[in-house]
Amino acid sequence: MAECLFCAIVAGEIPATTVLETDRVLAFRDIDPQAPTHVLVIPKEHYPDVAALAAADPGLLAGVITAAHRVAAAGGVAETGYRLVFNTGAQAGQVVWHLHAHLLGGRDIGWPPG
Ligand code: AMP
Ligand code: ZN
Repeated sequence: MAECLFCAIVAGEIPATTVLETDRVLAFRDIDPQAPTHVLVIPKEHYPDVAALAAADPGLLAGVITAAHRVAAAGGVAETGYRLVFNTGAQAGQVVWHLHAHLLGGRDIGWPPG
């Protein structure tokens, strides 16, 4: 069993509801959704946060964002609007240290964030 929760999901050791998969990216539904559309988009390779991925492989970061937009379009929220969130660090609420984009949509998403 992988030590990282999201690596374990990539490995198929923990089930998830996949909505999109490419050779390098996986998108699956958040287990505790905060909006009608709440999908997590991750690189299959392990990077602890978005800054680490941007430094190591900006093309893969672009792939994560492109995949998120594809999921938003398929889910019908690309036109109404959606938010991508990269919680980075403990004070921002990051609890899983495998980079993930939260794709949130399907309701009014308030600003400023809580
Ligand atoms: P963060 O706080 O940015 O690190 O986000 C971690 C997210 O992972 C939270 O929104 C959790 O609800 C979600 N999560 C935790 N475990 C699972 C799981 N097994 N499957 C899907 N999402 C999960
Ligand atoms: Zn991982």
